Amino acid sequence: MITLRSYLQGRWQAGTGSPATLVDPTTEEPIATTSTAGLDLAAALEHARTVGGPALRAMTFAERGAMIKRMSKVLYEVRDALIDVSIQNGGTTRSDAKFDIDGATGTLAYYASLGQKLGEARLLVEGTGEQLTRSPRFWGVHVKTPRRGVAVHVNAFNFPAWGLAEKAAVALLAGVPVVSKPATSTALLAFRVMERLVEAADLPDGALQLVCGEPGNLLDTLGPQDVLAFTGAGSTGAHLRALQAVVARSVRINIEADSLNSAVLGPDAEPGSDTYMMLLRDTVREMTQKTGQKCTATRRVFVPRAHLERVQEDLREQLASIKVGDPALEEVRMGPLASAQQLAAVRAGIDLLEQSGARIVHGSRGKVEPFGVPAGKGYFVSPVLLRADDPHAARAVHEHEVFGPVATLMPYEDVADAARLVALGEGGLVTSVYTDDRAALEALVLGLAPWSGRILCGSSKIADQAIAPGLVLPSCVHGGPGRAGGGEELGGERGLDFYMQRTAMQGDRALLARALGLTLEPPAEA
Ligand code: NAP
Repeated sequence: MITLRSYLQGRWQAGTGSPATLVDPTTEEPIATTSTAGLDLAAALEHARTVGGPALRAMTFAERGAMIKRMSKVLYEVRDALIDVSIQNGGTTRSDAKFDIDGATGTLAYYASLGQKLGEARLLVEGTGEQLTRSPRFWGVHVKTPRRGVAVHVNAFNFPAWGLAEKAAVALLAGVPVVSKPATSTALLAFRVMERLVEAADLPDGALQLVCGEPGNLLDTLGPQDVLAFTGAGSTGAHLRALQAVVARSVRINIEADSLNSAVLGPDAEPGSDTYMMLLRDTVREMTQKTGQKCTATRRVFVPRAHLERVQEDLREQLASIKVGDPALEEVRMGPLASAQQLAAVRAGIDLLEQSGARIVHGSRGKVEPFGVPAGKGYFVSPVLLRADDPHAARAVHEHEVFGPVATLMPYEDVADAARLVALGEGGLVTSVYTDDRAALEALVLGLAPWSGRILCGSSKIADQAIAPGLVLPSCVHGGPGRAGGGEELGGERGLDFYMQRTAMQGDRALLARALGLTLEPPAEA
């Protein structure tokens, strides 16, 4: 049994008191314990502000980019070992583990390149500004500088590697030190990631710290230059948003929470067409990858009423081929849920959807017989497809995120109805639409975009080239309105904004240009 430690103020520290136990969700065997009792987390925040922050701010974007590149490289070197940890503590298949770990190294590599592109600067300038009065000398321009505080990152259990890396990459490039707290139940992978970074990435003291275990007093001393980025359940997000320190000191907060992501089959997509097949492929992948424990997984599938039966049969056929079992085995496509708590929540969630008017058309909420697993062990559930024939009445389907391999198939009447149904989810991370019809796509985008952080447009010409809707790329924003938390992460350079203060500079154009090392051009002669 491993005792996880936190990496605080430049050293590994173990908590005291009664620790939490991490288990292997396939066998239910305990594998590690961790605690933060007795650790001074407020001192870790102060260490970041006073030691890590100045060190990072002294570096140029290019230098920070080089540091982030090292992080990506040293993690990639231990990729296989990290995959094994993910299988053991997360119950992921090898392919699911790669999704998390390669997502981590890939996002770090992306922000490393961005750092190189931003070059020798230490602040960012928005455009070249504009003349503010009748005098062409009096100029206004917006600049962005790193905040002087610490970025506290609180992550969900489902992406222990990517969650740590995607947030850290952006904050560190912006010049802000990080204290990262992974979810306790799957913290072993984040702990191994951090071990490797401490050992081989040559990070400045105080730039990155890790808290393994309960949050303790982590958020009590947040101040006006600090930021808090949270990923997890909407209820936890609402609690954090209302914390006294956050409210009283205007702590900037970003929340990535629940999301009832939708897939919409366009009215033109005939069964058997490439566009139709794309919806089937994406839906099955999104339902079963990481056992449906992805914030971007498809939860609601809307199809023209005329195609409801056919889509149901086609999805059932594909879901039936998913082998559930020991994720370490090559032939297994879907492992267990991450914990006993998640299993109970998924079963209760399926009950709720049924009570709301949906009925199961594939799979069951009960026991499965997982392949290669000792009888009665593990937190397994089968893929479950439900169907709600009266989607406007089945409210829980639009309001309750079942965080497992569960989706509900529903009919819509016309494009406007599809958009209304998606909107019942009150804001999501990603919506995928499958159509080759320009008018339908325009109507769907106008109806859906205000409710979606991202829209994947599936169509015949890109059917074999497109990424799956659940894949979060560092170049595109990740986040969504309403229920999804109202936040935004990543999105290339946009992601840095959260960690930087935008300041409007007003003054002598030539002086500002010289002082800040900027090129501020006067307007071109008419
Ligand atoms: P969770 O229970 O809300 O936990 C998330 C994190 O918050 C964990 O690190 C947890 O620590 C911590 N936490 C809980 N209570 C806290 C408190 N009072 N103060 C400070 N930290 C606290 O969520 P989860 O079960 O890990 O994740 C599942 C949810 O996350 C799903 O609803 C899913 O939709 C959402 N999610 C969203 C995204 C996205 O990008 N939008 C991505 C992934 C997941 P402990 O583990 O130590 O309790």
